[in-house]
Amino acid sequence: MYKKALNVVFLILILVVTGALVFSCFTIHNKNKKIEQNDLKISENKELISNYSESKEKLEQEIADKDSKLKETQSQLEAEKKEKDRLASENANLKTTIEMLKKQNSNTNKICYLTFDDGPSDNTLKVLDVLKRYNVKATFFVIKNSKAEYIKKISEQGHTVGLHTATHSYPLIYSSEEAYYNDLNAISAVVEEQIGIKSNVIRFPGGSSNVISKSYCNGIMTALTKSVKDNGYFYYDWNVDSGDASGTNVRYTVIRDNVLRGARNKNSICVLMHDTSAKSTTVRALPEIIEGLIAMGYRFEALTEYTYSFAHETLSN
Ligand SMILES: [Zn+2]
Repeated sequence: MYKKALNVVFLILILVVTGALVFSCFTIHNKNKKIEQNDLKISENKELISNYSESKEKLEQEIADKDSKLKETQSQLEAEKKEKDRLASENANLKTTIEMLKKQNSNTNKICYLTFDDGPSDNTLKVLDVLKRYNVKATFFVIKNSKAEYIKKISEQGHTVGLHTATHSYPLIYSSEEAYYNDLNAISAVVEEQIGIKSNVIRFPGGSSNVISKSYCNGIMTALTKSVKDNGYFYYDWNVDSGDASGTNVRYTVIRDNVLRGARNKNSICVLMHDTSAKSTTVRALPEIIEGLIAMGYRFEALTEYTYSFAHETLSN
């Protein structure tokens, strides 16, 4: 009986121990599983952290790049501002010098008539800008072309619009007096349409002393120089040639020096220049011509019917 009871106790004990062992195994298994899951999460988080660090670095690099670009732009802006200030002060100095020279010159009688032939063209607008900058008036002897609307601009800015002929074709205009007046009337009509008044200031293509007309009609210049006066016109030659028509793209320094040399030892000058589309070097030379003439004591005016004609002394035909 005692032995039986002991067996039962022993059996229970075994059952309890076995149960405890099974339970512990189960618990350990679960814990391992959790550890595995945690490990997985840790490795996932590590990957996230490394991705985050990577994109953080990228962003930091982008910010640094943008910073350096910003600094570059700022320094460019500063340099541009400095250059702008320098040009403004240079311009102000130039204006002061011009005003000073003009004051000095207001007491002198030296006078310059700048004239531009064979336009208008796009270069006429550039010439007008330069003249405006120096507050200088000039005269434009125009022909008939597709830029007729610029004739109005010339007049609006206070310059004289003179007639040069419509076609500027020597064989045509110098073939007869009638042909010359037909051509002159054609440009006169264009000018009147643009500025509302007839111009009575003219320049013969090639000047009154031209030789070329002899090939087309003997004695025509002798006849025309008389008859234009009878017809109410005043013709103007020149006494200083810029030489800008002596070739294509004549160097601007040559044009400038021709004018300034030609102006020496004179009191009254009429300067021949051209404002066709091919005369960009004339435009380039103009500021230095004006400044040089101011320094020589000249003041500037536009031609009118009351101006001395500058007629060439000897006719060649
Ligand atoms: Zn001409």
